[in-house]
This record gives sequence, C-alpha cells and structure tokens, in this order.
Amino acid sequence: MILDLKRIFAGEGNSLPIDYTLSLSDFELYGNYPLKTPIKVKGEIFNKAGVVNLALEIKYNFSAPCDRCGKVTTHEHTVKVDKMLAASLQRQESDTIIEVPGMKIDVDEFVYGEVVLSLPTKHLCKEDCKGLCETCGKDLNTGNCDCKKKDIDPRLAPLMDLLK
Ligand SMILES: [Zn+2]
Ligand SMILES: [Zn+2]
Repeated sequence: MILDLKRIFAGEGNSLPIDYTLSLSDFELYGNYPLKTPIKVKGEIFNKAGVVNLALEIKYNFSAPCDRCGKVTTHEHTVKVDKMLAASLQRQESDTIIEVPGMKIDVDEFVYGEVVLSLPTKHLCKEDCKGLCETCGKDLNTGNCDCKKKDIDPRLAPLMDLLK
C-alpha cells in the first residue's frame, strides 16, 4: 500500500489514519511460515508543527516450534513505531527519520521491515519449558524420564557396582 503524503506535508494539523491488515503468510523462516495470521497495523501519519510523524502499532502472531521442546507455539508481539518522515534527508541515515522520496511511503514494505527486525530470537512455549530429554527424547514438561537415574558419573560406576 503506497500512501501519497503530499497533503500531510502541506499543512500543519493534517493527518491520515492507518488501520489495515497485511498478510505475510508467505514469509519463510527456517522452513516454517511463522506469520500465518494477518499483521494488524494501526496508527496515523500526522503533521505536528510542520513535522510529519509516523506513529504505528504493529501486532503480529509468531507461530513456530518451541526452541526447547519443539511444540508449535504462538505468541503475540507488538512493535511500536514512532518516526519522523522527511521528503529528503540532509544528513546521513537516521534511526528516527525516514526518508520518503516524492512524499510517498510504501507502508507494506515499511511494516515488513519492522516485523522482520523485531522477530523473536528466543521462542519458548512457556518461560520455564523443560525441553526434551537428550537421551530418550521424552518431553520433560509431561514428567521425568528414567534416564537421569541411569546416567551416573562414570567415576562412581565401580562404586555403584559394589553396592549391588
Ligand atoms: Zn517448550
Ligand atoms: Zn530420558
């Protein structure tokens, strides 16, 4: 979605509400498609005291296997965007100012960039997920397995034999 912002740049107090959904269901990450549900984008572009601002709240559901146990888990993430827009940049790149050549912005592309940058580096089904047993593969969230008992320090093995 490309928005023409000439009207916003032209007058103080002018604004343009943004409220739409963007599908990024084709986005692939490590063989998964984590953004199955549409991205919700809400906010506005407004001219305040001659400065054009972009304020957005981007909400998306991230769906992928848990890093520890592999269970597919979905978490909602919110990205808050607060930027200034400039038709041209005097200085070099800035984190807070976005250049919008021709006073046009491709909102989809912008949202895509923000979502990709904010993707979680850690994804757990729950904060204290116990993961899978490295030996037998049992999901330790559902109970303990017998591996730990058998897995004795080899230096103690002769002692255990004596005890038998
Ligand atoms: Zn887990
Ligand atoms: Zn085990």
